[in-house]
Amino acid sequence: MGGLFECAVIGGGIGGSAAALRAAQNGMRTLWLLGSNTTRKRSRSQWVRHLDNIIGFNEDIIKHQVLKTLAKAGQTEAVKIVAREHYHINNRRIIQNTIDRIQDEYYTVDVVKAEATGLRRSETRFEVDTPDRTYEAQAVVLTTGVMDEQPAISKLNRKGNPEDSPRWIYPFANREQVLYCIRCEGHLTRDDRVAVIGHSDVAAELAMMLHERYGTQVTILTNGVEPEMTSDRQEILNRYGIEVVSGKIIDILSAGAKQLHGFQLEDHVPVEVRFALVALGLHRVYNDLARQVDARLMDDDMPVEKRHIRINHKGETSVPNLFAVGDVAKRDDEPVMKQVYTAQEYAVRAVDTIDYRRRRAMRTGLFEK
Ligand SMILES: Cc1cc2nc3c(=O)[nH]c(=O)nc-3n(C[C@H](O)[C@H](O)[C@H](O)COP(=O)(O)OP(=O)(O)OC[C@H]3O[C@@H](n4cnc5c(N)ncnc54)[C@H](O)[C@@H]3O)c2cc1C
Repeated sequence: MGGLFECAVIGGGIGGSAAALRAAQNGMRTLWLLGSNTTRKRSRSQWVRHLDNIIGFNEDIIKHQVLKTLAKAGQTEAVKIVAREHYHINNRRIIQNTIDRIQDEYYTVDVVKAEATGLRRSETRFEVDTPDRTYEAQAVVLTTGVMDEQPAISKLNRKGNPEDSPRWIYPFANREQVLYCIRCEGHLTRDDRVAVIGHSDVAAELAMMLHERYGTQVTILTNGVEPEMTSDRQEILNRYGIEVVSGKIIDILSAGAKQLHGFQLEDHVPVEVRFALVALGLHRVYNDLARQVDARLMDDDMPVEKRHIRINHKGETSVPNLFAVGDVAKRDDEPVMKQVYTAQEYAVRAVDTIDYRRRRAMRTGLFEK
């Protein structure tokens, strides 16, 4: 399509998918930059294998209908096969499904697999650079996400040398045994044993919450870092029987890569748990493009690469017609909510605001001719 887009959506995660679909359904001339293999690998959307905290996102809704159809048609063998199968709904499938729908059904959207490397603005428009070309748009929605800090574990590699790396926990993160999001996955730990990996008040709060909500038996592993928890939190941890253990993690105890059994620490008996929750905060907030146009950020006391983009209730930043939605954005009058459904809600707020303004301009234009 090319030319001047009414809306450019930057990011091919959940927020980007919701924004692009809304823009498509509003009939807006839209550019959707999905990002590259590199940005995809370092995004959160890669990690979510199973969504079960959102009503409606449940395999049984369709599965029951399919089973009924097959049973009606006398397909008894097929009924058995389908009944046995699990159809997990995860981020990747949702995103691919949205790309397919938009490409099949909506001709006003250009879907481009590329990273946005630069953003500039003038009075009337934005310029978005990709490695191959520059695009122009009247409004931009940033949905570039964040990345969690990962714990480095000093485990022996195949050659027998200690390798201090987060990669050892990835297989367990992929199986939802190492968790990152208490709101999304905390309920999985009900009445079980969990290690919270972290050393700050955030780790203390998450440990308390697990205990209070789910009756979880929690141990905090600081992984060789001196604990930095306030004395009132420490007191509550003591009362809940939550131990804070500060040895470095030197091995993961497991049955192959299938089931986590616990952690081996330096100079300590093994800590036996079925889950771990990583509580180290964020590694990066991908706010680079917002910074290039001087959009205001939140959290002045944080390093710049960890600061969220400040937005209002419409998802708009301090730069007019520049919006930010999903994990990358934060309001100052609301706790940060990094969830699939909040990303979706703000995507709709942002795109409908852009749509309202462009339609208002259309009407004004009627009287200027
Ligand atoms: C392990 C885990 C489990 C979770 N489970 C749940 C759950 O069960 N339920 C729930 O509601 N939430 C869950 N969440 C949270 C949820 O995944 C996030 O809230 C959601 O993915 C945020 O979407 P987003 O679009 O903001 O960012 P992301 O989904 O991370 O997407 C960012 C996108 O931006 C792209 N990008 C980055 N930079 C650029 C650039 N310069 N140019 C173009 N593209 C770029 C990336 O390639 C990526 O496509 C979980 C999170 C984690 C880590």
